Amino acid sequence: MDRRRCLDRDTASGLAAVRDRFELPADLVYLDGNSLGPLQAVVADRLAAVVADEWGHGLVRSWNEAGWLELTARCAARIARIVGAGPHEVTVTDSTSVDLFGVLAALRPLRPGREIVLTHDDNFPTDRYVTEGVAATVGDLEVVVTPADRLAERVAEDVAVVLATHVDYRTGARLDAPALTAAAHEAGALMVWDLAHSAGAVPVDLHGWGADAAVGCTYKFLNGGPGAPGWLFVRSGLASRVAPPIRGWFGHARPFDFARAYEPAPGAARFRNGTPPLLSLAALEAALRVWDDVDPAAATDHAAGLTATFLEALEAVGVDLAVATPLDPDRRGAQVSLRHGAAGAVMRALVAAGVIGDHRPPDLLRFGFSPLFVRHVDAWDAAATLRRVLEERPWEHGRTPPRGPVP
Ligand SMILES: *Cc1c(COP(=O)(O)O)cnc(C)c1O
Repeated sequence: MDRRRCLDRDTASGLAAVRDRFELPADLVYLDGNSLGPLQAVVADRLAAVVADEWGHGLVRSWNEAGWLELTARCAARIARIVGAGPHEVTVTDSTSVDLFGVLAALRPLRPGREIVLTHDDNFPTDRYVTEGVAATVGDLEVVVTPADRLAERVAEDVAVVLATHVDYRTGARLDAPALTAAAHEAGALMVWDLAHSAGAVPVDLHGWGADAAVGCTYKFLNGGPGAPGWLFVRSGLASRVAPPIRGWFGHARPFDFARAYEPAPGAARFRNGTPPLLSLAALEAALRVWDDVDPAAATDHAAGLTATFLEALEAVGVDLAVATPLDPDRRGAQVSLRHGAAGAVMRALVAAGVIGDHRPPDLLRFGFSPLFVRHVDAWDAAATLRRVLEERPWEHGRTPPRGPVP
């Protein structure tokens, strides 16, 4: 394993040309697309045009003339293809946190007499907070947590809904989604997936898994832009039986009838509520166009290859930090996390050296391998730079930038 071999792997990869669509400085290795995906030139152009032409010139006419009304559905259809869902089973609205609240609160009445929502103790904080908030709001519901690998054995007749995050944001460990979904259904519970670190990164097949509902981000591996809205999925057949907790006019079947009576839109679109964030959606739609030319399976294969290359490169250059990420490629996401007692300082030194990953307390160095723009040679260069930083230990000589509020 050497740098030359990484360059050869990039030449053989079908995704090399896709990287050119991203506005990444040539001397930067960006391994934080799992936190904020980078900008594509086409997105910058589209945003400028939406602001100047559609808002600035078209004004309110743009609802009709620029297709603003259908923008949400167009984004949803593109995401549906990536996650193995039908276009009407997905919508794009609010933040992932709000989407999660809506989905859990709406599903809960489908399992009367069951008083538990089951999730894992190491779940992402928002999943824990929101789940507790749902329990406090809807009543007769208690949150029970187990380690992620115990969910399947804990789920039983007292569980209404199981909520699991597919890929762990800290370690990158990936759960067996079809198996856990089957276990939940066996016990008569509904299965909700948080796919924040999955869509666009690892194979997702919501129909194949039999999932009941799911939520995810668009600003991570889908590169939708800072603060881009979340997406949610409710499987067909289920959506028509649930009532979203927030019944806003944009979730109505015909918002511009201004009807007195609420009539929910068919499918997942009923989870929309107020006027959508047009500028963010326009950026997201432009960002998702890249997937018209990329087979999601080719992208997730490339991501798996990148994490494997990074692990090989670490060994080749002699970085011997503990790997927190599972070595089985089917059990990890598009991410590798390493442990170091001074992880925050190491990461700040890496960023100063042109390799951007991030740090999750207390001791994790996190490297994301977003498939549309990361190359094998980036994985090599990151490993080599990490090796150099660990040797030079600049934080011991006061040469590391101070920490900011976001690790
Ligand atoms: C990033 C992330 C979120 C983000 O939620 P927002 O409400 O969009 O900020 C949710 N869940 C998981 C597992 C995440 O990693």
